[in-house]
Amino acid sequence: MHVPTIRLNDGASIPQLGFGVFLVPREDTQRTVEQALQVGYRHIDTAQMYDNEAEVGAAIRASGIPREDLYVTTKLNNGHHLPDDARRTFAESLEKLGMDRVDLFLIHWPLPTRYDGDFVSTWRTLIELRASGGTTSVGVSNFEPDHLDRIIDETGVVPAVNQIEVNPYFTNEAARAADARHGIATEAWSPIARGRVAHDETIGAIARRLGRTAAQVTLRWHLQRGDIIFPKSMHRERMEENFALFDFALSDEDMAALSALDRGESGRTGPNPNTFDMIHRSGE
Ligand code: NDP
Repeated sequence: MHVPTIRLNDGASIPQLGFGVFLVPREDTQRTVEQALQVGYRHIDTAQMYDNEAEVGAAIRASGIPREDLYVTTKLNNGHHLPDDARRTFAESLEKLGMDRVDLFLIHWPLPTRYDGDFVSTWRTLIELRASGGTTSVGVSNFEPDHLDRIIDETGVVPAVNQIEVNPYFTNEAARAADARHGIATEAWSPIARGRVAHDETIGAIARRLGRTAAQVTLRWHLQRGDIIFPKSMHRERMEENFALFDFALSDEDMAALSALDRGESGRTGPNPNTFDMIHRSGE
């Protein structure tokens, strides 16, 4: 199965389909990631907040897959936005992963109501980390259009990606359009709305007609919109299901039917980035 790659605005390439490990308990992470790698995933999305970077690294080493064939993302935890904390914990992430470089490092949340509203100095620190060679690309997550404008205006550096919530119930067009305007690749988190799409009648009817599952139809919708996705599953059959997306296509009508499920703000599965302010201190 050939996974397409997307070229980022800094010249690097990222596999459009990967595997996410949010809410994979630490004790299950090595096994889960090893299975995902066996299925064929070569892009893993983790975070300091998920508290499973060491187990992701162990799975990668155990797989024997050359590092250059893998794409690894991690993210700065909410409690670590001050420049010195960002530098220190980034070094810890590399150590836990057992790597001298990640492919992508993101600010996990903008936290505009914390740190006196200053996420620009955090962004400057990520730019510094990229210059030092510890990460190939740098980007952001959960940044709203005005947050993007601000970091770009103040630093002149455009993030390579913005990882935001996108699913058929929350199509998040405003943030996707802002990303596109700046040449930022959109990564769609919780792409199957944490499994909710499996019970959707509209998506189910399309899936039955195509001989696919609702999850596959939804993941295909994302791919055809050009977004990068990394569905999570702890079950091998679902990992395989979520990876089998490249031998069918959705018509314009089917694409439109999924997009029409958008419910705006009430369709979110996660918090609104303008108000989310949780400082997670796991592992500290
Ligand atoms: P997903 O939309 O990927 O859904 C995962 C859930 O759906 C799990 O409960 C899983 O259960 C179930 N599932 C998986 N495959 C199927 C299937 N084929 N049919 C039915 N159910 C299925 O949610 P996530 O929140 O995990 O999002 C994916 C990734 O995005 C995360 O792992 C993380 O890397 C990233 N993310 C980033 C955020 C951010 O703020 N930047 C926020 C949230 C997520 P089971 O495991 O039992 O199979």
